[in-house]
Amino acid sequence: MLKLYNTLSRKIESFKPIHPPEVGFYSCGPTVYDFQHIGNYRTYVGNDLLQRVLMLNGYQVRRVMNITDVGHLTSNADTGEDKLEKGAKREGKSVWEIAQFYTKDFFENLKQLSVITPGVICKATDHIKEMIDLIGELEKKGFTYQIEDGIYFNTAKLKDYGKLAKLDKKGLLAGARVEPVPGKKNSTDFALWKFSPKETKRQMEWKSPWGTGFPGWHIECSAMAMKYLGETFDIHSGGIDHIPIHHTNEIAQSEAATGKPFAKYWVHFAHLLVEREKMSKSLGNFYTRQDLQKKGFDMLSLRYLYLNTHYRTTMNFTWEALSGARRALERLKEKITEWQEAGKIALSEEEKYTTEFLQSINDDLNLPQALSVVWQMVDDKKLAPGEKIVNIKKFDEVFGLDLLTFSKTEIPQTVKELVKKREQVRKAKKWIESDRLRNEIEKMGYDVEDTKTQTTIKKK
Ligand code: AMP
Ligand code: ZN
Repeated sequence: MLKLYNTLSRKIESFKPIHPPEVGFYSCGPTVYDFQHIGNYRTYVGNDLLQRVLMLNGYQVRRVMNITDVGHLTSNADTGEDKLEKGAKREGKSVWEIAQFYTKDFFENLKQLSVITPGVICKATDHIKEMIDLIGELEKKGFTYQIEDGIYFNTAKLKDYGKLAKLDKKGLLAGARVEPVPGKKNSTDFALWKFSPKETKRQMEWKSPWGTGFPGWHIECSAMAMKYLGETFDIHSGGIDHIPIHHTNEIAQSEAATGKPFAKYWVHFAHLLVEREKMSKSLGNFYTRQDLQKKGFDMLSLRYLYLNTHYRTTMNFTWEALSGARRALERLKEKITEWQEAGKIALSEEEKYTTEFLQSINDDLNLPQALSVVWQMVDDKKLAPGEKIVNIKKFDEVFGLDLLTFSKTEIPQTVKELVKKREQVRKAKKWIESDRLRNEIEKMGYDVEDTKTQTTIKKK
């Protein structure tokens, strides 16, 4: 039985879908104004692991993910520039070109990270009508008001506003905080529809019953989640930064409109940090796929690195940790190659390890524990190589590390780098260091042959 931590109750709960075996699962997607960084990708891999664990438990997952291509402002307080318009200015392109370019890059990343593409991918700009209809419904029920800048949701009208974040509503509504938008009634009120500025023309704007403008950021997720999954569905996920504002407001506007619970389980992924600070665009402390590739890393090493930390624990990124993950992944693949070479494929799986593996992943996605089950199995002399292969094949349905498609002739990146380093020290005639590196390469299972002009390496 799968158990999941639900942010709504702050408890680990048994997972019981509304219409088994189907599971409706909505995850907040990227804002496509720039490259996403490896912090963002920790969250997307987290979503993928959850989907894979659900699938291994026999559920049919209908996963929906949005693409934010309009309406996400540079400040969460409904002020500042639209991130897409800002990206367009920065690069001298149209907003549509910007959205298309970064959406393409995003999916290339997901592919390289072995993330299963969600069944429904929906763009905000393709769902303006649904958003306008939802705002209309909220207006009919008396949850909205109009000010100079746009249509706002009145959070004082909703009894349980802020329940996800356990916001101290009384304190917030007292209005002690400075109001960034003139005319807002309560500091927690948020924009549903913003009017285009009078003096400038926006590249993306639409007519609405209230005036020409564009949607607020949160409304897209409510409109699209309900369109594709119904008014109440099973799981909604995103990074933990979404709890106090974005997800709180998604719940408010959806539940105000339908009078029904929005999502049953709320799953949130902890952040990736760099030098103990959240990796983020605004702090400039981020790395992208391109940065990793420049240093010779592939995305599956990054995926392996993510697996080492539980999804609700923050994780500090270092290049050393990434190198360590790459080495561990290479070692695992070497082992699998040895098992494959031993021939004899077994038909049954070894129960002890599969049971422990399933227990780990079903215990609120304890992937670090699942990895340690794998390493115990690697060292188990009693288990035949064929049985290990059958097990690992099953485990990899969740890990998604392409463990069985590894080419036997492929030379691991770590070995390639040692050889490169050795060539440099040989050129500098540092023979002791060169011998030390030869030893290291041999320990990894490769023979080194030097001729006058070049060095070749071969698997032992
Ligand atoms: P954005 O494009 O800014 O909306 O972010 C996309 C997703 O990445 C959201 O679900 C965020 O919560 C998540 N996210 C942002 N920064 C980090 C980080 N440093 N670590 C993990 N997830 C993050
Ligand atoms: Zn969202």
